Amino acid sequence: MVVHRAAPKRQKPESTDIRKKRTTVHPNQTKKKQEIGDLEDLKYLLRENKNNQWLTVEKEISRFQQSLLQWYEKNQRKLPWRYTCMEGQPNPYHVWVSETMLQQTKVATVIEYYKNWLQTFPDITSLAESSLERVNEIWAGLGYYRRAKLLYEGAQTVVSKFGGKIPDDVNLLQSIPGIGPYTAAAIASIAFNRPYAVCDGNVFRVLSRLFCIDLDISSTEGQNLFKNLAQFLLSKERAADYNQAMMELGATVCTPKNFDCEKCPVQSWCSSFQSSTQRQFPVKANRVRQNNEEIQVYLIDYADHFLMLKNVSRNLLGNLWHFPFVTLKRNGNCIPEDEKLSYERYLFRILHSCGYPLKEVDRSQRSLFDSFVPIGQIEHLFTHIKQTIHVKLVHLSTEIQLHLEETAKRMDGGNEESTEYKWFTEEQVEKSAISRQMKKVMELYQRQKKQQVLNLFF
Ligand code: SF4
Repeated sequence: MVVHRAAPKRQKPESTDIRKKRTTVHPNQTKKKQEIGDLEDLKYLLRENKNNQWLTVEKEISRFQQSLLQWYEKNQRKLPWRYTCMEGQPNPYHVWVSETMLQQTKVATVIEYYKNWLQTFPDITSLAESSLERVNEIWAGLGYYRRAKLLYEGAQTVVSKFGGKIPDDVNLLQSIPGIGPYTAAAIASIAFNRPYAVCDGNVFRVLSRLFCIDLDISSTEGQNLFKNLAQFLLSKERAADYNQAMMELGATVCTPKNFDCEKCPVQSWCSSFQSSTQRQFPVKANRVRQNNEEIQVYLIDYADHFLMLKNVSRNLLGNLWHFPFVTLKRNGNCIPEDEKLSYERYLFRILHSCGYPLKEVDRSQRSLFDSFVPIGQIEHLFTHIKQTIHVKLVHLSTEIQLHLEETAKRMDGGNEESTEYKWFTEEQVEKSAISRQMKKVMELYQRQKKQQVLNLFF
């Protein structure tokens, strides 16, 4: 039976209610919300679906927890961050790094990045003493570079405010850059066994199926109910294992499409299994509309070096090296031609500052940009943007004497005043902190070169 939330008749919680004794304030809830909101949510689940009645029986909750924990002991994946201890308990730094990375991409990719990260920054101090440039290099390709930056700033805060020791208190944890309610609960519970439930997408899915909750998981109301429910079901004594078990169940058994209820340790408590409605959950309404964008990338090659820029004012690529590019269209609407011309003028100024001959500006600028050749098109997905990238290439003749300096130079003035520029070899491009879509541009270039599609131009 599906729980419908229309016109719920909410009742005031009774002081003797067993559930009131079991709940603990979640890190992102105020005490007031805890008293009024969550118990009513739980009562609502009970009232609307008789299969959920086991929530009122403490022994059943305990059996549910035991079944899940025993399954986890036998079936957990051997992930590297689960086997690193510090003073007999999981290393909180490792939990922090792995949880931050896991918000980015799939486990298999994270394992690689995680190992590389720990080889470079084995502890909080080494991370705090590194540079953002180095951090971005190690993170390169994972996307969401802001998270890497916050991890780095967070490490500096831990060193300066907490003497290099990550605190075990969720409020103190949330005072550290990059640590929100989710990561605070994950560090506090997994590393210190503190009784806080962790709610990621896997947990939302498992809970929505267990109790047939048809609330939108992205709505505030839905999120509050799921968090309260997760907190209510948490094994307070074994919070670390329990949280990981719930997430593991969602990641390996109660998966979005190919869920395997026959292998599920909590099948006997699952309402959607009993009503064969697993596919209806979780409910995701109001999906974020995806925007479309077309950009043009200029690959400027001179003596096996590529011109790259770094512009801190560009939101998507802040502080990362990128090939020059200009936006052509947003959601089907062309950007005024003037903007493209102005960007090309700016690019021309950079080239001129490297020694590109300036005869008569408009003429030499036009002949340069006319000589770019299209080499292909790729697609890249950001969270809310689908980007089509048109790539154009030009080989500048080595008869022109350009100076390719080792250090980055800055171009001041105009709209792009915070831009730095530098010439990179292919190898340097691969090793540098560049965004994933710029990596794809480089891969396209290398593919074309390998297949000799561009013979005419090499
Ligand atoms: S029984 Fe099936 S739907 Fe229910 S929690 Fe287990 S895997 Fe998910």
